Amino acid sequence: MQRYAEPLARLIEELRKLPGVGSKTAQRYAFYLLRSSDEDARALAEALAALKASLRLCSICNNVTDVDPCAYCASPVRNQRLVCVVEEPTAIASVERTRSYQGVYHVLHGTLSPLHGVGPDQLRITSLVARVEAGEIEEVILATSPTLEGEATADWLAGLLRRLPVRITRIATGVPAGSDLEYVDEVSMARALEGRREL
Ligand SMILES: [Zn+2]
Repeated sequence: MQRYAEPLARLIEELRKLPGVGSKTAQRYAFYLLRSSDEDARALAEALAALKASLRLCSICNNVTDVDPCAYCASPVRNQRLVCVVEEPTAIASVERTRSYQGVYHVLHGTLSPLHGVGPDQLRITSLVARVEAGEIEEVILATSPTLEGEATADWLAGLLRRLPVRITRIATGVPAGSDLEYVDEVSMARALEGRREL
């Protein structure tokens, strides 16, 4: 790799740590920033500093927030008795985009993954169990991904919550909207058949 002046090399090294960014992309970004105005560069630096300084996790649902409790947990119009359990805060945006969910959330910050050393202790579940135990929740929707690890996490959570008086549901999986059945894989097709509903 070409040798750059120290500040530039340092920026490239930091950018390279971002997901999906290799050496070449990191160099391109660094040179782009070098050419950008002082104002733009400062705005980016300030946004990065503020990210760590002002964001924290909601003490109720573990969502990333700048106010505690977060906007969902503090909302008087959302159904606080309906909780959607997701792996990461980014999944909340996917659910919100549907505009059809009016409940609140609980973020696990991961999935069970014995291969990567992630056990129940690494997931954030204490506050969820406490809320269910306190009788504050009517239904828990397990909305972890339909991957091996997401399914294992949903099964494990269902087992944990089953002893408590709460309705436990799992999101349906199956055939994606707009897809041609000819090209759907057998696992998705099997799930679609399992999750069929009365019309
Ligand atoms: Zn919250």
